[in-house]
Amino acid sequence: MGRSLLLADVHANLRALDAVLQDAGLGGGFDSVWVLGDVVGYGPEPDECVARLREYPLVCVAGNHDLGAAGSIDLRRFNPDAAAACLWSRRRLSASSLLFLRELPLELRVPPFLLVHGSPRDPVWEYVTSSEDAVRAGSFCVETHCLAGHTHLPRVLDMVADSVPPRIPEAGVGLAGRLFINPGAVGQPRDGDPRAAYAVLDGDAGVVSFHRVAYDVRRTADDMVRGGLPVALAWRLHTGC
Ligand code: ZN
Repeated sequence: MGRSLLLADVHANLRALDAVLQDAGLGGGFDSVWVLGDVVGYGPEPDECVARLREYPLVCVAGNHDLGAAGSIDLRRFNPDAAAACLWSRRRLSASSLLFLRELPLELRVPPFLLVHGSPRDPVWEYVTSSEDAVRAGSFCVETHCLAGHTHLPRVLDMVADSVPPRIPEAGVGLAGRLFINPGAVGQPRDGDPRAAYAVLDGDAGVVSFHRVAYDVRRTADDMVRGGLPVALAWRLHTGC
């Protein structure tokens, strides 16, 4: 199955996305891109990010912000800044990009992986952050491993034994047991590290490696403020939380 670039929570941040694509390209390359939801929302380049990802062999599931921007779910479920960003994004998406977002599936099976944004039980909204969350996710997961985003935290969790503490992956992990894997957020990290996060799944070697890459946070944050997005969303890019 070759090498898959695992991305989540791009959040319309084209500089972060391009930094990741370049870094991953230089670091061994990849055969396809798997996106675990939230291509848009929050950031200043929603249409550009959809278009960039569509240049690649792409597997993509819908995130809550994709559905919000596409007009497929009720924006009252979002906090006010996130809802405002969904509306802002909708006005800047081409008809082709809107259609792309509307047609995204909520889950995809690429055995032995299930791809969702949130969790196997609730692909759109549920956060999986703790070992207990991951064990519960495992009981709803039809495949051996689950790949997800949504929390914006890079994590490897065990879906069978809650005695194993969450691993914050600094090196690669082998695909043993049943794992819940989150590559972290490309466009809006929330683990205190503002650099873009991504992972590479080497299907032949059975290994997932985790990476961070710096990009020009200041210019993206400035673009957000100038474009009229909520200032708090721009500010949090600097702190990465
Ligand atoms: Zn997100």
